[in-house]
Amino acid sequence: MSFINENFLELQDSYLFSTIAKKVAKYSEENPDKKIIKLGIGDVTRPIIPACKEAMIKAVEEMSTEEGFKGYGPEQGYDFLRNAIVENDYKSREIDIMPDEIFVSDGAKCDCGNIVDIFSVENKVAITDPVYPVYLDTNVMSGRSGKYNEKSDTYENIVYLPVTAENNFKPEFPKGKVDMIYLCFPNNPTGTVLTKKDLEGWVKYAKDNKSIILYDSAYEAYITEKDVPHSIYEIEGAKDVAIEFRSFSKTAGFTGLRCAYAVVPKSLMGYTKDGKEVSLNNLWNRRQCTKFNGVSYITQRAAEAVYTEEGKKQVKNNIGYYMVNAKIIKEGLEKAGFVTYGGVNSPYVWLKVPDGMTSWKFFDELLEKVNVVGTPGSGFGPHGEGYFRLTAFGNVDNTREAIKRIKNYFKKC
Ligand code: PLP
Repeated sequence: MSFINENFLELQDSYLFSTIAKKVAKYSEENPDKKIIKLGIGDVTRPIIPACKEAMIKAVEEMSTEEGFKGYGPEQGYDFLRNAIVENDYKSREIDIMPDEIFVSDGAKCDCGNIVDIFSVENKVAITDPVYPVYLDTNVMSGRSGKYNEKSDTYENIVYLPVTAENNFKPEFPKGKVDMIYLCFPNNPTGTVLTKKDLEGWVKYAKDNKSIILYDSAYEAYITEKDVPHSIYEIEGAKDVAIEFRSFSKTAGFTGLRCAYAVVPKSLMGYTKDGKEVSLNNLWNRRQCTKFNGVSYITQRAAEAVYTEEGKKQVKNNIGYYMVNAKIIKEGLEKAGFVTYGGVNSPYVWLKVPDGMTSWKFFDELLEKVNVVGTPGSGFGPHGEGYFRLTAFGNVDNTREAIKRIKNYFKKC
């Protein structure tokens, strides 16, 4: 008999995007003449930039020759890309990261999910609430969550750190000691950020408690304000307490191409039960070499091209395009009387739904009255209730039109 991993039975079905899709499909079927504008899903829409396209064409041609052919590449990524990452994402900010601390992968989602392999099932995990669901579900799968409580919509062994307007979207330190802390800033879904001072507090907490911070900065390219760290390693001492996840997905439109990386500093240690220090860099390297065969050469050449002069300019243009949308959404909603958060250092605008409405009620109202689709905040965790997410990843004309409709409708209400 083959027994299953029963931890999977603790997972709650995520109805969020499937419920949205069903509601939108039903509405479209009943109202075929209505033009629905979707500002819900967090996926990019701008095409791959020319610098990456040209790099890929060149790599394909190279691979098609006897001399240029490449089979399996290094599991950790090619040196050319690891070096480019170090130079451009870290050295340029005076952060001292070595190429062998960079692990190139096919996505930050996989990295955030797979990292749990190298940690004890007994670790206490803290996540923010609302949260990018991958952090929670991968800990449920690997047996760290305990039982689900339907009434509170929480797991018994997970420490939830609310991020709401009441605490200015800054998670408070856990009351007790936790071993693993997931922080994602700029945040998905709230679009909010932490300052350098805030992050210093987290690095100190982690040092004091010998905890590890799992820092997801997938949206760092959207930061516009000065005091907002792009990397947790801008904080002194962070190399002793933090793993950082980065992705080319939202930076350079790689959601379909797939390339990301994790930084696991050599000074970062975990502990055995009897208190012996073990290098997490070594453990992650071992894990990757066993379970992962690297990102394609063609994709890594495309990622390298993001760091060329042309690539940087083109990426900046695309991000600028999305940030124009973010501004249209944020300013338009505020003119319509909504309170909004995020949208300044992030492609996500998080808004408070009108009093007396739930996130889902607001979803229905937007869909039916103005034919605009967003994402109900409650789908990201219990403290997301009463909030709603709109994304800046759409087409600028559609975004303008969506906000015009919202303004017209809610002004009348
Ligand atoms: N981390 C966060 C916070 C995200 O929002 C997303 C995607 O939406 C990812 C990671 C996934 O990134 P990737 O496309 O590199 O898997």
